[in-house]
Amino acid sequence: MARLIFLGPPGAGKGTQAKLLAELLQVPHISTGDILRSALKAKTPLGQKAQAYMNAGELVPDDLILDLIRDRLNQQDANQGWILDGFPRNVSQASFLDTLLQELNQTCDFAINLEVPDEVLMARLLERAQKEGRSDDNEDTIRRRLEVYHNQTEPIIGFYRDRSVLTAINGDQPVESVTEYLKQLVCS
Ligand code: AMP
Repeated sequence: MARLIFLGPPGAGKGTQAKLLAELLQVPHISTGDILRSALKAKTPLGQKAQAYMNAGELVPDDLILDLIRDRLNQQDANQGWILDGFPRNVSQASFLDTLLQELNQTCDFAINLEVPDEVLMARLLERAQKEGRSDDNEDTIRRRLEVYHNQTEPIIGFYRDRSVLTAINGDQPVESVTEYLKQLVCS
């Protein structure tokens, strides 16, 4: 059983590490970014509403995200644990999650903050833009996403520190080293 939240800026490696760990622990990997990108591709109402925000590097409004998370965590497969990647992204999402977990009689075991300096993130995201062709990975949008991270997402680090579940990890090292550290953390 494991319930983990991945914090950290865009490009820190949350998606990569969350996926690997979810497989290892046999729990669902819940990425709001992935859910939104699929919605966008499928041109669902959610995708259409989210598109402009995502392309501008802004957060999608909470009302589009909160129901989605409530539904996902209420699904059967999330009973035995989960890994959240990209949610919560601001203080109001963090307090929503707190209340939701109380309702579900669950607690989060770890909030993992992957720390990476901005200039490294910038380089990684520009490289990803070339490789994956993501529409929110151009230079201006990347800059905005980093700003949004510092303004809106970084404040939730304190929220999890206060709950004594915060673990900070240096994300500026090879993928395998971060994975190894995480394995030891969650499996010990
Ligand atoms: P990500 O793949 O997690 O970096 O998310 C890509 C984009 O999706 C973000 O830049 C936001 O526009 C949007 N997004 C993902 N998760 C959230 C969230 N929890 N709250 C608001 N917007 C989100």
